[in-house]
Amino acid sequence: MDQNQPPHVREEISVEKLALLGGTPVRTSVLSYGQQWIEEQDIQAVVDTLKSPFITQGPAIDAFELAVAESCGAKYAVAFTNGTAALHGAAFAAGIGPGDEVITSPITFVASSNCVLYMGGTPVFADIDPRTYNLDPEVVRGKITDRTKALIPVDFTGQPADMEAFRKLADEHGLVLIEDAAHSLGASYQGRKVGTLADMTMFSFHPVKHITTGEGGIIVTDSEEYAEKLRLFRSHGITREPSMLTKPEEGPWYHEMHALGYNYRMTDLQAALGNSQMKRLDEFVARRREIVAAYDQAFAEFDGIVTPFQQEDTNSSWHLYILRFTRDKFTASRKEIFEALRAEGIGVNVHYIPVYTQPYYQALGYEKGLCPHAEALYEEIVTIPLFPKMTSEDIEDVVRAIGKVHAHFYKA
Ligand SMILES: *Cc1c(COP(=O)(O)O)cnc(C)c1O
Repeated sequence: MDQNQPPHVREEISVEKLALLGGTPVRTSVLSYGQQWIEEQDIQAVVDTLKSPFITQGPAIDAFELAVAESCGAKYAVAFTNGTAALHGAAFAAGIGPGDEVITSPITFVASSNCVLYMGGTPVFADIDPRTYNLDPEVVRGKITDRTKALIPVDFTGQPADMEAFRKLADEHGLVLIEDAAHSLGASYQGRKVGTLADMTMFSFHPVKHITTGEGGIIVTDSEEYAEKLRLFRSHGITREPSMLTKPEEGPWYHEMHALGYNYRMTDLQAALGNSQMKRLDEFVARRREIVAAYDQAFAEFDGIVTPFQQEDTNSSWHLYILRFTRDKFTASRKEIFEALRAEGIGVNVHYIPVYTQPYYQALGYEKGLCPHAEALYEEIVTIPLFPKMTSEDIEDVVRAIGKVHAHFYKA
């Protein structure tokens, strides 16, 4: 750039041509919004288990459950094939059934409310707080009826929901509190680790989440009763526990089916990978926070772009980083901004389409307009890449692409 040129000319030169319009993209290979970090020791842990006598229902499961329970200070952990199955288990353990209502957020993955439908219950959607994008406790309070059985707050992007308020509501109304913490492994709230705040807390180990087992999920809880129900549910409803059998004298082969469970068991191969990954959880979360600090600093200067607001009493573990492009500050819609970023080689995404606007939920009778803050948020958000393995060059690429798009579409 020629510093001797008058300012208005300099400004024009600084606006690079968007890749969408035929300019040179910031990157030639697409940077995904999230991905796992597998190292040699992870591979070795899986290989060791492959060579051992147990590839499922063996010792790696117990070790993994212990590692997750210890990392968040919970008494029990029950591993599942995936986070969705774990939520299904929690809904079962909570005793949700036909006629029961369960309140959750519309800004989440469909699994948060599908688990209620699996049990024949009715999901009820309450609006979000427009600052944190998390479920608003005051809106939830207004949705509680005598049919309400449970609350499922979601720690959206990794920032814990207002669990003190939800605990109070749950205690006041005798509700089960289930935390969808798929985004918040390693986060804390009022100095307490996520995993100790709800009656049951779900973590997911999908590759984009904080640690991975390929597919996998877990419920942590301090309740022995819930833990027992969860173990029963993940294995066909069958128990061999002598104290639970009606006819323990029958014989050593004997087992009983006490509930209609599923086969939702995690394999030892997955648990071995999970164990190995858990050793790096702190490092992964620290790196996510470092990237977020760089993003916050870089985007602070872009008028019209809202960066994630953080409540003082929360310490997010940052699953996602979401930028909100205030509609009236740009000449383009979110769709055009999204396409422009993709064209620059930035693997942006959108989290989430409000669940009740999905055709399946619409057919169940949920109406558009139910949660105005959630619907307004959906129109303006873009998720940008965030994962621990990102390099500083990757971060610079994202910032440069956002800069290009901002310069092009910003309404001065
Ligand atoms: C990932 C996720 C789940 C489900 O996890 P899976 O392991 O993919 O089944 C549930 N809720 C939220 C908010 C998630 O992000």
